[in-house]
Amino acid sequence: SPVFDADHFKSQFPLFSQSENRQLVYLDNAATTQKPLVVIDAIRDFYLHSNANTHRSSHRLARRATEMVERVRGQAADFLGAASTREIIFTRGATEGLNLLAHSLSADLQAGDEIVLTTAEHHANLVPWQMVAERLGLVIRYVPEIAGVPQFERLPEVLSSRTRIVSMTAGSNALGFRTDLQQMRKLLADRELAWIVDAAQLAAHSAVDVKTIGCDFLVCSAHKFYGPSGIGLLYGRADLLDTLPPWQGGGEMIADVDLHSSHYAALPHKFEPGTSSLAAIAGLGAAIDFLNGQDRTAIAAHEQHLLSLIHKNLGDIPEISLLSRPENNLGIVSLVSDRCAPVDLMQWLDGKDIAVRVGHHCAQPLARAAGHTATLRASLAGYNTEDDVAQFVAAVREFVQQLDRLDETVVSEPSVD
Ligand code: PMP
Repeated sequence: SPVFDADHFKSQFPLFSQSENRQLVYLDNAATTQKPLVVIDAIRDFYLHSNANTHRSSHRLARRATEMVERVRGQAADFLGAASTREIIFTRGATEGLNLLAHSLSADLQAGDEIVLTTAEHHANLVPWQMVAERLGLVIRYVPEIAGVPQFERLPEVLSSRTRIVSMTAGSNALGFRTDLQQMRKLLADRELAWIVDAAQLAAHSAVDVKTIGCDFLVCSAHKFYGPSGIGLLYGRADLLDTLPPWQGGGEMIADVDLHSSHYAALPHKFEPGTSSLAAIAGLGAAIDFLNGQDRTAIAAHEQHLLSLIHKNLGDIPEISLLSRPENNLGIVSLVSDRCAPVDLMQWLDGKDIAVRVGHHCAQPLARAAGHTATLRASLAGYNTEDDVAQFVAAVREFVQQLDRLDETVVSEPSVD
């Protein structure tokens, strides 16, 4: 892509310049991205210069750590387009954000109330709802689907006067397709329900603005957008978060505690019990700065270019069936072959230092509805190059050409995700 220098971008990620990784073609970015030096430095700097616990104490280091956390909260509010830092809760990741919401929102629900999900959800947006539904007698309904792919425009068919929560992904981590969130906003307008968007995949590939989306809550994980693991964001409208009960109890989230009851702290601390992952918050701040310094539209155009190249080059191989489409896609290629198990192809690619993933990608209902137990997924980030794509495509072609010989030598193992 002429506007974006992928090699320069890649040079900022030191993992790729380690001798053991110089040949690596990393195509597992939907699982987690690599980290730029600025993020690694921010984590190290925190431990070297600012390590102390936050709010509780008041000495110099504690003040410095507290200021850092609240500064990053401000950056995160801008990053997601939130109106105030009161709307930003630090979590462990998208999974924890969704568990928090499932717990806190369900406190107000009655048996028979309905939660609407889609068949394309990551398990993080299925299992927490199943757990509260079972406990409280709630009903989970799914947007109508074809082969597991939600027919999003048919959302109104599953909305009823009992619908209290609609929670959906902004894009499939298994097949890559994006949800038309503006269409969803229109379909949900004037409904008395909580609308949650899982932006775990979206945030890596596109600017996220909660005001434009119009959702009530949104979750994401820093490790998917070049930040550290162990830290994520929950955005919630302040008026809604204010009325929700907290999920986990502990230090930092209270205003006053006596032996029999407690008064909770104000937002956002009410939802942040205990000591947060402070160094990871420092790394998240650096990741947001890093992304703000990039031309994100150019990165997205570059990823789109690579995605189209892969689909074009693999599309004419009869042994390979592409399950993903290049249009409206968050950088994900998904494929199967009726000649081999995806795990065999994955192992072949791994032998050539090409990292892809095989499995149901934590979206088992989607895979099952599409008739597969496992697919092979290659997922892109800004540091992938045309050379990465060429190596991936060449290796797949080579594998297919040698299928007969491989059938005799490669032993398949069951896939694990
Ligand atoms: N939702 C989606 C769409 C995801 O892709 C993922 C991660 N694969 C998650 C939620 C969970 O994110 P995490 O494991 O960082 O909590």
